[in-house]
Amino acid sequence: MIEIQDLIYQYEKNDLNYIFNKLSLTLEKGSFTTLIGPIGSGKSTLVKILLGLIKVDNYIKIDDLVLCTSNMKKIRNKIGVIFENPDEIFVSETVMDEIAFSLENQNKSKKEIWKKVEEIANYVGIKPLLECDPHTLSEGEKRLVSLASALVIDPQILILDEALSMLDEISKRKIFKILKECNEKGVTILNITHDLNESLYGNDIVLLQGGKVLLHGSKEDVLKQETKLKRAGLELPFLADLSIRLMYYGILDHMILDMDEMVNAIWK
Ligand code: ADP
Ligand code: MG
Repeated sequence: MIEIQDLIYQYEKNDLNYIFNKLSLTLEKGSFTTLIGPIGSGKSTLVKILLGLIKVDNYIKIDDLVLCTSNMKKIRNKIGVIFENPDEIFVSETVMDEIAFSLENQNKSKKEIWKKVEEIANYVGIKPLLECDPHTLSEGEKRLVSLASALVIDPQILILDEALSMLDEISKRKIFKILKECNEKGVTILNITHDLNESLYGNDIVLLQGGKVLLHGSKEDVLKQETKLKRAGLELPFLADLSIRLMYYGILDHMILDMDEMVNAIWK
């Protein structure tokens, strides 16, 4: 669904520090990937490149389209993005208009637009908020509005750029439940974060470091790479840490990332 080959990028021409230094990454259609990277490792820059906000000459393919100016409109219609600070993104005075805004450049009638907005608001559970000013909502509700705005275009890819970092566990779980449902319907999900705990909700992990992909695999495989993750300044999720210790002592033979499953395994 996303294919990046040997991406090279630096903000300043004479800068010796490349943000990306031959970064290659392929994300399969229907995957649910957590992209982890320390702060400043280029995660948001990568999103800007995928959205065509930063132009690069390297080969990038999104679905069946090569990233270039003439394909940009079609590519944008495939990607829903949820950013870190919804307040900076909101352009409307009501939630209803905010969600409808994403549909404005698609040739749809007013009636079709409102039908779609209501349907999506109902789906993410914010129908009672449609008349509210999005800026006045709670952090969790703001993310749900952003999610609705992203989903209303029926995206094939959903990218979250540190969108959930500020949320409490309950709000996070609510959003991950919707993301999982979307993923089951075939939407490719890329959740970008510096919190490894969020990777437990997805299937695969990509670790970005030093301008390259350092690790890419299933969460069970990547979370075993304790040394590399710790060297990147990342803290292992509790169950991953526990699994590694229990595997060391021969009590477990594989990583378990589900609490009930862990309790059962130890009990045996
Ligand atoms: P992340 O999202 O992983 O925290 P960013 O992609 O925002 O990282 O930034 C990567 C690096 O690029 C950082 O060192 C940042 O300071 C630098 N950077 C980001 N935006 C710009 C810009 N517009 N001009 C120059 N440097 C930038
Ligand atoms: Mg960022």
